Amino acid sequence: SPSSGVVETNRKQTKPDRKPSSLEIRSVTKRYGEFKALDNVSLKLEAGELVSVLGPSGCGKSTLLRVVAGLEEGENGDVRIGGESVTHVSPKDRGVAFVFQTYALYPHMTSYDNIAAPLIMRELNAFDRLPIVGRMLPSSKRKYQSVDDRVNAVSDLLKIREYLSRKPSQMSGGQRQRVALGRALVREPKLFLLDEPFANLDASLRNHTRAELSILQKRLGTTTVFVTHDQTEAMALSDRIALMFEGKIRQIGTPDDLYRNPLDLDVARFLSQPYLNSFPAEITLSGRALIAGEHVPLADALKPGTRGIVGFRPEHCTLAARKRPNMLQVIIERLEHAGAEAHVFVRLSATHEPCVVRIASSDMKDWQVGSSAWLSINSTEGWYFPRAARRRDDLFQDELALA
Ligand code: ATP
Repeated sequence: SPSSGVVETNRKQTKPDRKPSSLEIRSVTKRYGEFKALDNVSLKLEAGELVSVLGPSGCGKSTLLRVVAGLEEGENGDVRIGGESVTHVSPKDRGVAFVFQTYALYPHMTSYDNIAAPLIMRELNAFDRLPIVGRMLPSSKRKYQSVDDRVNAVSDLLKIREYLSRKPSQMSGGQRQRVALGRALVREPKLFLLDEPFANLDASLRNHTRAELSILQKRLGTTTVFVTHDQTEAMALSDRIALMFEGKIRQIGTPDDLYRNPLDLDVARFLSQPYLNSFPAEITLSGRALIAGEHVPLADALKPGTRGIVGFRPEHCTLAARKRPNMLQVIIERLEHAGAEAHVFVRLSATHEPCVVRIASSDMKDWQVGSSAWLSINSTEGWYFPRAARRRDDLFQDELALA
């Protein structure tokens, strides 16, 4: 029986027949009462691309995914899959597969039946599905065989053949998650919508499943929107990242773009966890950054006569025991071991602003809590964020301009 999960197949199908589709979200707004969960959001994915929607809890990531799936309706705008508007198409006819954080498997069914369920619902009629008799109908035999081939092919892909006869309660979280992915994959969707699919897994399983998903997605070439609040996960998986705050996409780009070229302080903070250093700065009329009374050289564009924030990561500054030009005096407050590296928590002597400096943990012995030291910011790495403006207007992307 198909439920045994060990049916041999001679038709290996590892690539969906369907061509990957592009996805275009055009100016979608979604309100719950007065509250705007999505505020004029536009986003475009090329066919086969994996884009992460990244952002803090409550910024609207899941809502965006639900609008694409058709589970929520936006109040204006348009969603286009493969160039065709699906705004008035029902969720089941959009050709999208949604994987949620909680696996949403039927607890009383085996993995095999969980994976086969969407195909059986879609392709078999009420007669075909009759218990026992249904499988004996000549017309249904072929259909069951076809379902079987596809379930087996997907199971090989996900390496879950050996779990096909188990029920969800008899599997680990990672195994269950792969079964849930299998159920999404088997439908050969035009689009994958994944909503924090690894949130319930422990760290090592998470890394492992993430790597598997990445390989699988590239192999199948299925256009994928991946929702997460975890910057590491987004960085590791994505072709591009759309970073959201408060119902709006703030910046879209490759992981490297966003990491190196944040448009504003929120983006820089979100992608510099756990620590981003930030000092209030004044740019003199001669275009030099004045921080705590010192002129600090910075390669970033500095708009003369403005005030703003200079931001930089702990690895982009150093400590010295002796003063050299352009250094800021600090007091060491705390040292924290972090394996190969260590963090030194300091405060500017002049303004008491806090700052974190990353050093090699082997150098921890050089620094004592309570003593003073000199901080220098790596001039090519620091960013200047003018108050109430984007750092660089030339980085303003098409997708954002569409909004
Ligand atoms: P998380 O990472 O915590 O899942 P998210 O970014 O996915 O968050 P959404 O679930 O999209 O956030 O929710 C966006 C905002 O809309 C939240 O402030 C949420 O409280 C609100 N919201 C979501 N669904 C509803 C609803 N049905 N009724 C009212 N408000 C809602």
